[in-house]
Amino acid sequence: MSMIDKRGTLTKHGSRTYRRRSRNSIKNIAIHHSATTSGSAEAFARYHVNELGWPGIGYHYVVDKEGKVSLCHDLEVVSYHVGNSNGFAVGICMVGNFQTESLGDAQRNATILLTRRLMNELNITVDNVWGHTEFPGYSWKACPSINMETFRSQLLNEGGAVTSLEGNSSSYVSGERQRTYLSRGDQGDDIKALQERLDSLGFLPGPIDGIYGPRTYDAVVRFQRTVEIGVDGIVGPETRAALRDYKGEPEMIEHGSPTDEPDENEEVFSSESRRMLRFIQPMMRGEDVREVQQKVGAMVDGMYGEETTQNVRDFQREHSLLVDGIVGPRTWRALDRIRRTNGVGYRRLLSVQTPYLRGDDVKRVQRALNVETDSLYGPITERSVRNFQRSEGIVVDGIVGPQTWERLFT
Ligand SMILES: [Zn+2]
Repeated sequence: MSMIDKRGTLTKHGSRTYRRRSRNSIKNIAIHHSATTSGSAEAFARYHVNELGWPGIGYHYVVDKEGKVSLCHDLEVVSYHVGNSNGFAVGICMVGNFQTESLGDAQRNATILLTRRLMNELNITVDNVWGHTEFPGYSWKACPSINMETFRSQLLNEGGAVTSLEGNSSSYVSGERQRTYLSRGDQGDDIKALQERLDSLGFLPGPIDGIYGPRTYDAVVRFQRTVEIGVDGIVGPETRAALRDYKGEPEMIEHGSPTDEPDENEEVFSSESRRMLRFIQPMMRGEDVREVQQKVGAMVDGMYGEETTQNVRDFQREHSLLVDGIVGPRTWRALDRIRRTNGVGYRRLLSVQTPYLRGDDVKRVQRALNVETDSLYGPITERSVRNFQRSEGIVVDGIVGPQTWERLFT
C-alpha cells in the first residue's frame, strides 16, 4: 500500500481549526465514497474549506482508484464526515461513485489493507467498521454504495488474496432457473442477487443473506414507489425489468455535505429545527422526547429509552419508513403529519365486553403496552393492563379508566 503524507499541505481554513481527541476515544472506522467519478484529497479539501467553510478536509484518508492512499489528518483530529458521530470516527473516502460504477480491485485492496491496519492500531473490531449510511441518522444516505457486509467479510479474510466477492449484480435478471415471482419468505441465490442489486442501487435491503425478510420487502416497496410501478412488495417481471434498467438519480455531491458537520450542542440537526432522537446512554431527555412518546403511544416520561425506541420502530414500520428506532428528519415529518389523528386522548372506560370495544383509544393503549395493535380490547390486552396496573401499584381490575390512562400516558 503506498501512502502519501499530505498533512499540512492541503487547503485549510484561515481561522477555524478542528478540535483534537485522544486515540482511545476512536470507536469506529467510517467508509465513504466520494460520489464523484474523479477527485483527490486536494480537490475535496478545497471544496470542504471554500464551499462548506470547514476547518479542513473532512476525511482522514482518501484512497484513489489506483489504490494510492493520501493521509490527510492525524487520527486525533476530529474532522467532519459523519455529523454527530465525528468525535469517535475515522473517515476513509474512496474516490468514485459506486452507485454507477464498480469498485476496482486496486482501490478495494488498498482500502482493506488500510482499514485492517487502523483496526489493529486502534483496537477496533470488524463490527465497528461502518459505511456512512450505517451511522445513526444517515440511513437515508446512499454512501458508500458498496455492500458493507461483503466488505466486512473481506476484512476478516485474513492473509488470503483480497479479491472481489461481488458477482455481476445483474446476473439474476437472466438466469434460467430463477423463479418468476419473488416474495416474502423466499430464500436462495436469486434473493441474494436481488438484494445485491437493491443494495447497489442504494435501496438498502439489509444483510445480503438470501432471505426475503422484512428489510428486503421494505427495500422492494421503496424501489417500486420510486419508479412508480405497482407497489406490492413482490418481484415479478415488471419489477425485475425496472431493477435491470434503473439508472437512479444522480446523487448530490457526496464528498462532504453540511449534514456531516456536527451541530453546536452535538445533537441538533442543522437542517431541522429539532434534535435527532435515539437510544443512547445516558438517555436523551426533554420536551421533544415527551412529544414523540405521546405520538407513538409510549410511556411519557421524557426519557428516550428502550420502550420508546420499540414504539418508534413500530411507528416507522406502520408508516413504511426505514425501521431504525431513530427519530430523524423523515420520522419527525411523519410524526407531524399524524398529529391530529393519532393523538387520541382519554375517551371512555375500556374493558372486555361483547362485542369487544374497538377504537383508536384501544390501539393507543395496546401500543403503549406492546401488545398486538388490532384496536380491539380483548383478553390479551386486558391481561397486559392488569400487569401494568400491578407494576404501577394501582387497583388491578383490567379496566382502563382515568387513573390507568394517566399512568400510561402522562
Ligand atoms: Zn459518506
